[in-house]
Amino acid sequence: MSTGFFFDERCFWHGGGNYAGMLPVGGLVQPMNGGLPESPESKRRLKNLIDVTGLARDLDMRGGFEAAREDLLRVHPASYLDAFKAMSDAGGGEMGRRTPFGPGGYELAAVSAGLSVAALGAVLRGDLRNAYALSRPPGHHCLPDYPNGFCLMANLAIAIEAARAKGLADRVVVLDWDVHHGNGTEAIFYEDPDVLTISIHQERNYPMDTGAFTDRGAGAGAGVNLNIPLPAGVGHAGYLAVMDQIVADQIRSFAPDVIVIACGFDAAAIDPLGRMLATAETFQVMTQQVMALADDLCDGRLMMAHEGGYSEVYVPFCGHHVLQEMSGSTVTAPDPFGEVFPLRQPGPAFDAFVQTQIDAMRAAL
Ligand code: ZN
Repeated sequence: MSTGFFFDERCFWHGGGNYAGMLPVGGLVQPMNGGLPESPESKRRLKNLIDVTGLARDLDMRGGFEAAREDLLRVHPASYLDAFKAMSDAGGGEMGRRTPFGPGGYELAAVSAGLSVAALGAVLRGDLRNAYALSRPPGHHCLPDYPNGFCLMANLAIAIEAARAKGLADRVVVLDWDVHHGNGTEAIFYEDPDVLTISIHQERNYPMDTGAFTDRGAGAGAGVNLNIPLPAGVGHAGYLAVMDQIVADQIRSFAPDVIVIACGFDAAAIDPLGRMLATAETFQVMTQQVMALADDLCDGRLMMAHEGGYSEVYVPFCGHHVLQEMSGSTVTAPDPFGEVFPLRQPGPAFDAFVQTQIDAMRAAL
């Protein structure tokens, strides 16, 4: 069976707002080409890179799905969807925090969610071995009725609820390795005992007020949410240690029907919105780790949705490493920073400090 790659050109057409980086233009903030860091380029260049290397020929390329309203309604209230649609029809605007959209933004967000719905459904039906959805706008920050952090619809939550409604899965793990806390996914499943949400993120990044280790879920979902906040500067060794020593056990003991990854690449070493030191190889090895878990636990069923990642230069190479691993292809895109980033990793004293943090979290579980 093959690896699916779900993309749609329309996802690259989402845009809006007048920003210079994270700052609204005005006062002393000069207008800037490119606007928000969440631009199409990092994603479009990933698609271009897999075309240029030929990796795309080893993937099952699919696209063109808009999520159905009934799928959106399992996560978002009609009042939110209707207000979003009305503003979108009227030319665009802003309904939350750093989530501007232009005319037709509603439909573009529904396409982004639809890619995740289709990718997860195809894996669960046994049509594909695993799948990657190049969803844009991203989804993991979006709350049911409040978009934030570039996220307008909760793509993965919508996909999971659609799969469960169709009887395709009962128990799902969401592992979020985006550098920011997956606050939207957490909130949606916080009281749900059948969806284990795990987020590895840089502490005190975004959002500032969520993502604490002590937030473990509530009600029937108590103990089924895990935040792993890490200090700025964690690199290759630290990420793999977290995966090995905390994440793997949690996923094993949960025994999911499928593993879903909120796949951000903003923990990479040159990301403008993160301060971590992961490399393309880090993402490749983490992919190996989750594939091995999926093979052991759920017949290899693994789906990833693209989240953040704002280095237009580096994201394509990180994504290529992940997709090569998922598909088992021999087509490579050597890391152009492969001579540099392995040398710019934390020293032994910092890695030892990170290990004390991991030990403390393990002891508290
Ligand atoms: Zn992020």
